[in-house]
Amino acid sequence: MRRRLGLGVSAFFTAVSMMKLARREGREAQRWSMVSAAAFLIPTLTRNASWWGPVIKTFTTSKKEVWLTLDDGPDAEETPRILDVLHAFQARATFFCIGQRVVERPELVRAMIEAGHDVQNHTFSHPAFSFWAATPRRVREEMWRGSEVLRAVTGRIPTLFRAPAGLANAFVHEVATCMKLRMVGWSVGGHDGISHDPNRVLRRILRRVQSGDIILLHENRLLGMPVGQRAKTLEKLLMGFEQCQLRTIIPEL
Ligand SMILES: [Zn+2]
Repeated sequence: MRRRLGLGVSAFFTAVSMMKLARREGREAQRWSMVSAAAFLIPTLTRNASWWGPVIKTFTTSKKEVWLTLDDGPDAEETPRILDVLHAFQARATFFCIGQRVVERPELVRAMIEAGHDVQNHTFSHPAFSFWAATPRRVREEMWRGSEVLRAVTGRIPTLFRAPAGLANAFVHEVATCMKLRMVGWSVGGHDGISHDPNRVLRRILRRVQSGDIILLHENRLLGMPVGQRAKTLEKLLMGFEQCQLRTIIPEL
């Protein structure tokens, strides 16, 4: 892990310095800048990649169980409805919350905990398009503030971290180790961060799901999405799980 982090950091800084040099020195330097950049970028831009450090993508079980995870909340409209659906199905989930939204709606986060769900760190401001390239300082700030607001609201210190879009560079793994946060990815996603057609989301999940999978869904509202759609999709998904006799649990890791 340490060695890989060292390699990641060297690849990052070599890429940056070679790119600067390449502007002055021509082809050979350009070639080396590309090699260094690729060494940093390929494992960083692969979702849930374990190259810089361990990422949990499935869990071990001998029972028909899956781990349901809900990202990007809390949301004033969707979260209460989602909690109702989970209650109706006696389902349990882990919510990977965005710190800024936790600050805005702390009562929803407390409701998650009171209902027996788990709440974990998904950064403070969710910089989905730039987190993969974040500097050590930015990474520390996002992860530390994300944990700090959750601790203040719930009284619990988060133990898990999910990177926005599942993309994490070497610094993220280093900070996670320092903060005793385990990195969690997913094995089955509904792609509902971009599409909100419930049937397509369900098809994507139900045709692939098996015991031990980590399911990724979102709870925030997208532009043009009718109110309550996230909860409806979840309800249909849990009905689908019931038909396959799959239970949702929060596994002991
Ligand atoms: Zn997210």
